[in-house]
Amino acid sequence: LRIRPITNEDTNLPTRFQRQVITTSPHTSNQVIVHQNDKKSQTFTFDHVFGPETMQQEVFDNAILNLIDQFLEGRYNVTILAYGQTSSGKTHTMGTNDNSSISSESKGIIPRAMETLFSLMNFSQYKMRQFTIKVSFVEIYNEELIDLLGEQNVDGERPQVMIREDSKGNILWSGLQEIKVNNVEEVMTTLARGSLNRQVGSTDMNSQSSRSHAIFSVVMSQQQKSLSSPMSPTNSNSGTPRMNGSRPPSRTQQRMSKRLDDVENMTITSKFNFVDLAGSERLKRTSAVGDRAKEGISINSGLLALGNVISALGDPNKAKHTTHVPYRDSKLTRLLQDSLGGNARTLMIACVSPTEYNLNETINTLKYANRARNIKNSATINQEETGWNDLEHLQSLVMKLRSEIKSLKSNS
Ligand code: ADP
Ligand code: MG
Repeated sequence: LRIRPITNEDTNLPTRFQRQVITTSPHTSNQVIVHQNDKKSQTFTFDHVFGPETMQQEVFDNAILNLIDQFLEGRYNVTILAYGQTSSGKTHTMGTNDNSSISSESKGIIPRAMETLFSLMNFSQYKMRQFTIKVSFVEIYNEELIDLLGEQNVDGERPQVMIREDSKGNILWSGLQEIKVNNVEEVMTTLARGSLNRQVGSTDMNSQSSRSHAIFSVVMSQQQKSLSSPMSPTNSNSGTPRMNGSRPPSRTQQRMSKRLDDVENMTITSKFNFVDLAGSERLKRTSAVGDRAKEGISINSGLLALGNVISALGDPNKAKHTTHVPYRDSKLTRLLQDSLGGNARTLMIACVSPTEYNLNETINTLKYANRARNIKNSATINQEETGWNDLEHLQSLVMKLRSEIKSLKSNS
């Protein structure tokens, strides 16, 4: 979970709506507390909670870096999903935009992940490895799949992408432009080109609000080079990393590297999806009409299907009773079918605003993300019952523990 800071736009709201109603827990790094005027405060638990002061680098180091190791290892498809209402910080966090004018400190996940990936590939231990990296960028808008890197036809339409499944259960996105890239700069130019083609519509909530899901994908193939082939430009440097912030390959990578080096002509392919989901806000809040209302409904159906897929995959009880995972209920889940579940690595980053004005949507997001993570809410209720938020209770507990320690020490 990531709580964004209060933005300039928030300060245009009436003061009482600007009140910060959601805070990180002072005791642990995985809880968030929602303060409501008339109700008891509520606690939600996640794998990690990033407060408003958290920098992009910290999010990356804590939540993303190990996924890149696993991706480079080649055995996993990795998917990162940014979920949340419009203006909660999804695009900022993911970096699914033109990054050229953004300071390096503010850069999101995609540019950082690409820098790390390309610098790891340049380590000397990979010099016998041939890497091929291709990127693609699609948008799902009103249940239509649009290739953001495809050329427009005479009517200004972009090619539609078809989803097929091969006999091994791999999902093939046919008709899609896949652009081969040789370095970080080429990835960033391609990302910027596609992001300019994204659908944006204005609603009451945010004039830049994005009504579509955007999926930026990186497909990496790695193959053992035959001894006679010339070095590729990617691998020809001395083996020292070029980029800042890179580290030596992990132990799993070293193991993997050995495995691959033993087998000639073996190709390993893995896919990394960066998904910037459409705004999760409820339709009536945006007072949408006509076409915009239609968009709203189909966006919600994609997010609904995603929630159902994730909970079907994540709930061990359900898995026992039903083998059906409803991938086919939406284009979004169908497209990501082989990247959700199985041995895929999936990370959802739920983004929320800290202000009173967005409280209802914030709670919806916390619940959706909680369901995705399949945490039993009783765990947090228990903590409330034991007076976790009650200073007096905690103080008397500290006194009691101190005296217990003292007596234990004097007995030993
Ligand atoms: P979304 O993609 O969810 O609609 P954005 O990523 O566009 O939201 O964020 C909305 C606004 O808030 C943008 O102006 C963005 O720069 C700002 N913002 C979001 N998260 C942060 C953050 N962690 N730090 C600073 N500004 C942020
Ligand atoms: Mg956005």
